[in-house]
Amino acid sequence: MKRCLKCIMPDAAAGIKLDENGVCQLCKEYKEFIPKGVDELCKEIEGCVSKDAKYNCVVPVSGGRDSAYALYYAKEILGLKPLAVHNDNDFETKIATKNLEKMTKTLNIPLVRVSSKTQVIKKIVAEKFKKNAFFGVGLIVEQTCEACKYGFESASYNTARKEGVKVIIWGDSVDESTVPYHKLFTHKKPTKLQMLLSPGVLNLFKYKYYFKKMKKEYGPNSPDGLKEIHLYDYIKWDRRIIVDTIQSKMGWSAPKESATSWRIDCSLVPLVNYLTEKAYGVSKIEIGFSNMVRGGKMDREDALKQVEQIKKNTNVDELKKFIKQLKIPQTIIDKVL
Ligand SMILES: [Zn+2]
Repeated sequence: MKRCLKCIMPDAAAGIKLDENGVCQLCKEYKEFIPKGVDELCKEIEGCVSKDAKYNCVVPVSGGRDSAYALYYAKEILGLKPLAVHNDNDFETKIATKNLEKMTKTLNIPLVRVSSKTQVIKKIVAEKFKKNAFFGVGLIVEQTCEACKYGFESASYNTARKEGVKVIIWGDSVDESTVPYHKLFTHKKPTKLQMLLSPGVLNLFKYKYYFKKMKKEYGPNSPDGLKEIHLYDYIKWDRRIIVDTIQSKMGWSAPKESATSWRIDCSLVPLVNYLTEKAYGVSKIEIGFSNMVRGGKMDREDALKQVEQIKKNTNVDELKKFIKQLKIPQTIIDKVL
């Protein structure tokens, strides 16, 4: 298999073409992302944060590294009084739970945990998996994270409103986004009619039912009246600084057996990573790493080594067992994996 000589995109990835110099389109079209800077960040939040309030910002945290650093940055660098909010998406890893406890305790920041008593996100993920399986793996991986995203947003917005907080500080970053790749290639979505005529139509209705239930349990996910800050739009996303800081100042850790410190917070990640490779010829982690290499945030050799390690660690039998727990029928598991 050939890979782009600048990043690590494999030529087997759908939509990717290497030129005569062995360079992919993403590298050729790449424009460096310049953060807006700390001054701009301070200007944005000035006037929205009250010094006398008990809390003056909400930081949604997953237990993963980037949101952990956002929490650190809010309290220790910006001098804010954050409230950490976490949505337990029913797939939280043990290490994420441990990190959440450790880091909020170390920095003395209260943690609000939101979850569903009936494991509604798990049910949504399972029904979605079943309804989408009839339209190929591409659709499954594209839509897995929808309910968790809803949960994080509504938990953060509603907690902020309840506590009189006006600012939400998110820890997502463009350096890790898979959007540039998916602009090149994405699988076609089925029409509503195709969905209604498919064998998964019952799962479609179950999915809609559970989502309605989730909205009732969690409340709306409207950011109206709140200021949303994406921290890494303003400060440089630097993997080494982030990992060093959260390890030494917050007691954060990645599992020993993990080849990467990225996305250790959700037990769906290995499955989505593997299925992305099935659907697109490139795993989700590889897409993320290739962005980081392209942006000068990761060494190319390191990225290749980690990708190899992750591939070696992938255990398809374990993934099958994992999906079985979601009560996905064997016929669908065999079809998809
Ligand atoms: Zn490239």
